[in-house]
Parts: sequence; C-alpha cells; structure tokens
Amino acid sequence: MGLALPVVWSDHHRLHEPGGEIWVGVHTAGTELPARADAIRAELAAAGAHFVDTEPQTDDALHAVHDPELTGYLARAYEDWEAAGLPNDPGQDRVVPYLFPDPSLFSGFPPTTATSPSARAGQFAYDTMTLIGPGTWEAARAAIDTAVTAAALASRDGGLAYALTRPPGHHATRSAFGGSCYLNNSAAAAARLRRDTGGRVAVIDIDAHHGNGTQAIFWEDPEVLTGSVHVDPGAGWFPHFLGFASETGREGSNRNLPLAPGTGDEAWLAAVTELVAWARDQRTGGLVVALGVDAAAGDPESPLQVSANGYRAAGRALGELGLPTVVVQEGGYDLATIGSLVRETLEGLEEGMGA
Ligand SMILES: [Zn+2]
Repeated sequence: MGLALPVVWSDHHRLHEPGGEIWVGVHTAGTELPARADAIRAELAAAGAHFVDTEPQTDDALHAVHDPELTGYLARAYEDWEAAGLPNDPGQDRVVPYLFPDPSLFSGFPPTTATSPSARAGQFAYDTMTLIGPGTWEAARAAIDTAVTAAALASRDGGLAYALTRPPGHHATRSAFGGSCYLNNSAAAAARLRRDTGGRVAVIDIDAHHGNGTQAIFWEDPEVLTGSVHVDPGAGWFPHFLGFASETGREGSNRNLPLAPGTGDEAWLAAVTELVAWARDQRTGGLVVALGVDAAAGDPESPLQVSANGYRAAGRALGELGLPTVVVQEGGYDLATIGSLVRETLEGLEEGMGA
C-alpha cells in the first residue's frame, strides 16, 4: 500500500535559486536548494503517492496573510535590481539589503519609501540571508498557491493533503521576509482552511526553528491557534529574538515550546503531543502542520536529535486529531534523508487518521 494522500506540486520551485546566503558579511553556499524538493518528490513517487498540480490562486489568497506592499515589492524586486545595474556594478546578481530602517530612526513617523533598490530591500527583508534571484517571485508565488490548493483539497474531502512547497514560508511575516522565506505558505493554508471550514484552525509547527512569521501573522487572531516546538532561541538559534514560552498571543492563542539543543525523540514528542492536546481542547476544526524535518539528527541547520521513528510518531499523534489537515513543507536540509523523513511523517499521519 502506498501513500493515499494527494501531494500538491509545482515545478516552479526550481526557478528559485537563491545562490547562497550572505551571513556575517560572508557569502556562503546555503542549503535551501532546488534539490531538496526534488528529493522529496522522488521519495514520495517511489512510495506510490499521486501528484496534483498546483492551482493558481487569486491575489485574495495572498493578501489574506500579506500586506500588498510586501507582495508588490517582491514581485518587482529583481527587475528593479537589474534595471539599477547592480549585477554589473558593483557585481551583485542577487537582491541584498544594504541598510535597515530601524524604527528608532523615525521618532514615530512612518519612513519614506527609499528610491534606491538596495535601500528598499532593507525595508522588507529582516536579514541578509534571504536573497532574491530572477525566479524567486514566481517560485514563492507558486509555493503559496500550492499550500492553498492543498488546503482547498483537505477542506473539500475532510482529509489529509500535502503541499510540497519550496521556498519555505514560516519565517515570513505579514510585511517582512527573512529566514530563507518570502511568503508564508502555512499561514495562507490556515487562512483558506478557516474560510472553508468556518471554524477555528490550529497551525502546529514542528520545524526545528520557531515559526515566528506565522506567530506574527495570527498574533491578534484568537481564531487561529499557533503552536511551535523548536530549538531554544535563547541557546543562540534562529530567530534569536522570538520563540520564547512567554509569547502567548491574544487570549493565549500562541504557544511556544522551546527545547534545549541535543533534545531527542522523547522530549520532542512530548512537546508535539502537548500541542496536539491543546488543539483538541480548543476544539479546532482544521489543522495545518508546518512540517520541517530539520529537527532530525544529522540535519546541518539544527542541533535537535529527532529520529525517523520520532517523525513517524509525531505524524501519528497529529493524525489522531482526525481533522481536515494540510501538511506544508518547511525546512529540512540533509538531502540524503529529507525524502524519507517526510515520507515517514506522512505515513504516520495516515496511520493516525485511520487511513
Ligand atoms: Zn527550520
């Protein structure tokens, strides 16, 4: 028996080649590569999954979770960069911010929109690691459409759908991008699920890093619960400034469960189970799983030590909620294991749902 759930997919992810990252001023190779999504696809195809093409969505789906100023910027960012001649002088062929308009510069008045593309990038990017190339917008747009397509399928069938998204999205806020994320795919899936089911929705984020973008987007909205289990930002991990247990959102609708570096299956699963119990207590009618498999032992981007069995058990616990469920791909950077970790989680979800 192969996987039964639909896997929503777009080839457009390959158009996004960030070309590495700028970290502490140094150009590094980066790990958010097109090969990630292709490895997951190959593994799921071998497991008998069936693939569904992404349906292009209207701008409403985008603007349910993003400020039109951000999406308008991202849509033109590369074109404007090129038109300004920056790929030739000084020779930077990716959009990289040059200064960041910190609120303390402005005595409370809103900043003017900068005319220089290098300065404007800093108005929307909150780090220097999230570079924009010629195909980034098309790929990011296709990823959010993929997540919304999966949400529409899950709410129509009352079952499970998987959005094989790339670039990832959970670090993108309503009006800013960073952490290798441009548009928040999981948040858009939650907004669609909520619209279609009419009830409260939970986003449970099991990526190794705190889902700060999703938290920020729904901070004021008690109808979307956001829970995240991740490596403790206080131990020196991205996103550093956010992801602490004290961040509880409006009416307690946000929960963060930070874990010490080195945490393995037992404590990680206990945290996932705690978020599952919370979603059950709060009588949610739909679930988004922000699935990063970078909490696995051996992933180059995190110090957590979760096993493939751990991911499968997490899938089972999440599936036991028995809700319309959209699984949205977030991180996971070990190309040798990313596919099997995703497959194990999805199989666990199907087992949990009694498929
Ligand atoms: Zn991550």
